[in-house]
Amino acid sequence: MLLKDIKQIFHQELDLQYGKEEVTHFFYYFVESYLGLPRFHLAIQPQWIITKEEESLFFEGLAALKLGRPIQYVLGTTSFLELTLRVNEHVLIPRPETEELVRWILKDHEGSRSKIKILDIGTGSGCIAIALAKYLPLAEVEAIDISEEALVVAKQNATKNEVTVLFKQADVRDIDIPQKEYDIIVSNPPYVLESEKVSMENHVKNAEPSRALFVPDKHPLLFYEYLAIVAQKALKKGGELYLEINQLYGKEVSDLLKEHGINDIEIRQDLHGKDRFIKGINLAQ
Ligand code: GLN
Repeated sequence: MLLKDIKQIFHQELDLQYGKEEVTHFFYYFVESYLGLPRFHLAIQPQWIITKEEESLFFEGLAALKLGRPIQYVLGTTSFLELTLRVNEHVLIPRPETEELVRWILKDHEGSRSKIKILDIGTGSGCIAIALAKYLPLAEVEAIDISEEALVVAKQNATKNEVTVLFKQADVRDIDIPQKEYDIIVSNPPYVLESEKVSMENHVKNAEPSRALFVPDKHPLLFYEYLAIVAQKALKKGGELYLEINQLYGKEVSDLLKEHGINDIEIRQDLHGKDRFIKGINLAQ
């Protein structure tokens, strides 16, 4: 079959659901991933023919997209700060916002010559921990997640990106907290309210792991309460806590952290101008 005919079928089948431009992107992601060809290939070889096996890959991908599966799960990979990471339904798809959180940490610590000990809580695909290990060569990185299935993915991602991260299965609500162990604690915990579900895209709320995303409306800071307790105890004096937050709760998270001896609070906005990140320093003895 001609590759250009597949492209046309993609548009016929998906444009209404996703819009023409998005479907063109999807199609070329498949060209790159399934055929290993650059996206301009079709422009220089308009009569390019694909094999039966390749054809069935495209049709399987098309069917999955029709069902609303996110493209990253369909391809099985995504990129995060230039790293290629494997993803599946057991992990949240890393977001550009989270890249910003990691950039903040990197900026604060680039060129640092001392060994930095880092803990990532709720690591999912491992994106934060792996990027920090990659770009801060002197860092010693540990990461926990409640989900064994997520940890399988995270470990593969560390190996694939040639970094060492110590992964452990643990629930932040119930862990043995070490004393004054870490220079940095970082987390992107679940923070989307159940009531915010209505305004979310179907491919997010139906495909991604709910327990990585949602918190009850009655308890929006559920995970931040545990994170504050862990940070207070496990951060060294002067150690830093970096968190991704729900845009509605900057002030509340800030107050909560202060109650736990985490001070010098700074809140930063994401690309959309929403309060999305918070940093605090453990000043307690
Ligand atoms: N930023 C993600 C979203 O909007 C939520 C991530 C999270 O809950 N930690 O889908």
